[in-house]
Amino acid sequence: MQCREGCGACCIAPSIARPYHGMPLGKAAGERCAHLDENMRCLLFGDPRRPLFCSTFAAEPAVCGESREQALRILAELEVLTQPAAGMPGSGG
Ligand code: SF4
Repeated sequence: MQCREGCGACCIAPSIARPYHGMPLGKAAGERCAHLDENMRCLLFGDPRRPLFCSTFAAEPAVCGESREQALRILAELEVLTQPAAGMPGSGG
């Protein structure tokens, strides 16, 4: 599917664990990326400094839902579901 105009949900809801250009601590879940402009477009699009996480993300109905609000909710749920469980082997907790 085509990215929804003015959405930016994938640049807000998910966390990005690794540091990247302009975001030395990475990005927390729910935090707006510093490179998301006022039109919800990526200022690093086509720039090699854009994180791999972003370059490999593809809009699809299962993730993006039928509205920006749905996308934010689904992505926030996926963020929780993909977190390593505290205390589990390999989680460091
Ligand atoms: S670098 Fe661009 S695509 Fe990645 S989260 Fe930031 S604004 Fe979105």
